[in-house]
Amino acid sequence: MPLSEFALIERYFRGRGAKRADVRVGIGDDAALLECPPGLELVAATDTLVAGVHFPAGSPPASIGHRALAVNLSDLAAMGARPAWALLALTLPAADEAWLAEFAEGFSALARAHDVALVGGDTTSGPLCVTVQLLGHVPRAAALLRSGARPADLVFVSGTPGDAAGGLAVEQARLTAPSEVVTYLRKRFLFPAPRIALGESLRNYASACIDVSDGLLGDAGKLAHASGCGVELSFTDIPVSELLVRAVGEERARELALTGGDDYELCFTVRPSEVGRLRQELPPERWGYTHIGVMREASGAIVTRGGNVMEFSHSGFDHFGS
Ligand code: ADP
Ligand code: MG
Repeated sequence: MPLSEFALIERYFRGRGAKRADVRVGIGDDAALLECPPGLELVAATDTLVAGVHFPAGSPPASIGHRALAVNLSDLAAMGARPAWALLALTLPAADEAWLAEFAEGFSALARAHDVALVGGDTTSGPLCVTVQLLGHVPRAAALLRSGARPADLVFVSGTPGDAAGGLAVEQARLTAPSEVVTYLRKRFLFPAPRIALGESLRNYASACIDVSDGLLGDAGKLAHASGCGVELSFTDIPVSELLVRAVGEERARELALTGGDDYELCFTVRPSEVGRLRQELPPERWGYTHIGVMREASGAIVTRGGNVMEFSHSGFDHFGS
């Protein structure tokens, strides 16, 4: 007998995220009732993953569950927000219990790790598609925006972007590499680690912030545009992992970092006068970020090497571009 919608929700989703005292009514009524602490602003984000567009059809179900939440956590990280509550709208071709069990575990393990309660959702049948809405909070007027950068601010990125693009290439059998490299790159694509702790900490230091989902160059360009200025990135300063370099070489690794996608790292700017305090109080070795460029008066996003401006065929993945 096929699993009813009610049984499916009870078995796989109810009570699987974090338990939070601020959830007055969670899954089971017509809507969730959530207590928002006084003095805080509510932060809301939603993102959809469509099979065959945002992940290869046939991806491990745990990865689909993990990434559906991770992409939203990354958006909250970029705002300097603390996540609290999630809603999950799930469209499934069939109630495949083995698939659901893995999917739910991928989702709820990450939810518990970030103290996120799953407070509701919707379940429908159709082509596989996962939408998560994530709510969280930030102290009033403390959120990090894309629009706060000024010319001369220094530009930083967390982690080693490009790995996820390498991992996707491995998933799609476009790239072969030694097995420890394959394991690392696949994990970086399938199970990205959103930078929630860094985002919250950056509230006291950064002038602007964006999460890197569509390639560092394109996303730094969006931050610059929102701030009414431009950005210059230094090619040789782009941090890339040793394992990605082993797979594709240093040059291609940096290109993947600049134009690949799915990294979910943070790109942020800091006023020159604040950089000393940033480095002292959030040591880069511990927090894992690197200085990669500077904001400029002239609009646009450029990459320089040895004083020359480099050309890139495309600066980030655009769903509706040619
Ligand atoms: P309604 O018809 O009133 O929208 P549903 O029967 O769709 O209610 O949902 C019942 C409860 O289960 C609601 O609290 C809803 O938020 C929750 N829910 C439905 N689908 C999911 C899901 N995939 N994950 C988490 N909660 C869900
Ligand atoms: Mg419903």
